Amino acid sequence: MYFGGIEAGGTKFVCAVSDKTQQIIEKISVPTTTPEETLAKVFQFFDQYQLLSMGIGSFGPIGIEPTKDNYGYILATPKPGWAEFDLLGKFKERYQVPIAWTTDVNAAAFGELKKGAARGKKSCIYLTVGTGIGGGVVIDEQIFSGIGHPEMGHMHVKRHPNDEYEGTCPYHKDCLEGVAAGPSLEARTGIKGQDLPADHPIWDMQAYYIGQALMSYVLTLAPEKIVLGGGVMNQDHLLMKIRQAFVEQMAGYMETPAVSDYIVRWGLPNESGIIGSLLLAEEVMNENVEAERRA
Ligand code: ADP
Ligand code: ZN
Repeated sequence: MYFGGIEAGGTKFVCAVSDKTQQIIEKISVPTTTPEETLAKVFQFFDQYQLLSMGIGSFGPIGIEPTKDNYGYILATPKPGWAEFDLLGKFKERYQVPIAWTTDVNAAAFGELKKGAARGKKSCIYLTVGTGIGGGVVIDEQIFSGIGHPEMGHMHVKRHPNDEYEGTCPYHKDCLEGVAAGPSLEARTGIKGQDLPADHPIWDMQAYYIGQALMSYVLTLAPEKIVLGGGVMNQDHLLMKIRQAFVEQMAGYMETPAVSDYIVRWGLPNESGIIGSLLLAEEVMNENVEAERRA
């Protein structure tokens, strides 16, 4: 019997099964095309296994409030065919097992807390800086949700004094994602983030924005660890600059652990989300067993 995990992304669906000790048995990646085509391949993979439970971390925004009609749906995405799509429903139809359902970044935060850079802590934030910016929050070892899942990438930020760029966010223009996600680097410079030299002045601006956002998250939630992932964070020098910007902007107001230990890169490179999804599958199975025992 196996746990099934899915990291459902806008580019690819990573699917994995693990055994009862959470060793990954098999992992595949399916390109995200139409829902029909993508799910046919995903189902083909999981059909080979006897599953105990599943965990899905999906790109969003998604409906996560169980009492609402849009629970389990992918909501307003520009990705053709996927907006208002009942993703969780398709899995529930196919597999009659308990299924955990959350965002990709929440699954990643959970994975990092249990097995990665925030291991041993009770709370952490996971922030991805890639095509977009998104954050996941774990508090008291539980994924946090309220009226929905947090949308930490779309917070408003104070402008860098030298930044004239209008921003890429279709909703807010110059929210954090609008001024600091990968596409904004390219829009300002004409050069993709991965090709920009380390001494390009844009990195100071980038660090100013991410450092500022991290300060706001810390002031709001005081998490025990901040874990950074995503393509843009592959720039090693950027992490140093972000830590420095965080310290400068915090200006000694709130005491935090040493930044070198507090603001860190992911501990499960490229796997935080899929490992988190598998761990969530285990959790939902345990919750189910417990509920049946009490009934
Ligand atoms: P996604 O967010 O789609 O899952 P990524 O996390 O790889 O994918 O993010 C892609 C974005 O990150 C693009 O805007 C790309 O230009 C930028 N990016 C990818 N690698 C790097 C790098 N090494 N340095 C800076 N930016 C990068
Ligand atoms: Zn926005």
